[in-house]
Amino acid sequence: MSSRKKDPGLIVVISSPSGTGKTSICRELLEKHHDFTFSVSATTRPPRKNEKNGVDYYFLTDEEFSRLLKKNEFAEWAGVFGFRYGTLKSEIVRALKDDRVLLCDVDVQGGMSIKKRYKDAVSIFIIPPSLTELKRRLFKRRTESPRQKKLRLDTALKELEYWKRYDYVVLNDNLKVAVNEVDMIIAAGRMKSDRLNSGRYWSGAQVKLLGLRGT
Ligand code: ADP
Ligand code: 5GP
Repeated sequence: MSSRKKDPGLIVVISSPSGTGKTSICRELLEKHHDFTFSVSATTRPPRKNEKNGVDYYFLTDEEFSRLLKKNEFAEWAGVFGFRYGTLKSEIVRALKDDRVLLCDVDVQGGMSIKKRYKDAVSIFIIPPSLTELKRRLFKRRTESPRQKKLRLDTALKELEYWKRYDYVVLNDNLKVAVNEVDMIIAAGRMKSDRLNSGRYWSGAQVKLLGLRGT
């Protein structure tokens, strides 16, 4: 058992072309780690059959979204596939206050904005094994109209161009392997020395060893 008191919170940006497997990876990680939390975004997209308001997204009308925007409640927002999506500042503040890992499933525009605003966020780009497999996964999901599927596939190649701008790239061929790799990246991100420079993460003996002041 570790004698460290706790791990520091971390913002983790996860992006990929739609249908690659971001949601599946996040779900597995959330089940495995109780100190991980999902950044519930606001969106004007209508809910899918299995989606719950306040769990998968905050499903808003255009007017509601605009009202939050006017009140400066978003850390970032973007227009994606004809709808608006945004990360609420309140999600970030709450997670970091509680030293949680916050998983932000956002598109590449959102990914770039979060990295710019929160310099020590870790960004991970997930790639599918091939375009054929991406197509298969998108179609298998049966959650989008044919028009939405086409839009999402057409956008995939443009989104893929962003991979170099992310800190890490993970191939989602085998889901279990991909989850493990993302898990390892997050563990390493949490252990960066500049994140562990507060006495609140260490017990007395280590505070002394590291020359820190305890809290
Ligand atoms: P995203 O959130 O990136 O849009 P999802 O997590 O919804 O993608 O995954 C899209 C579909 O692909 C889902 O039906 C999911 O079960 C499936 N899927 C995810 N990862 C894999 C994988 N490694 N192998 C096969 N199917 C996968
Ligand atoms: P979906 O409709 O499949 O749930 O999501 C469509 C796209 O919107 C995905 O690329 C997803 O990552 C992105 N997305 C979800 N929430 C946000 C958000 O808060 N901000 C941004 N910029 N993109 C988001």
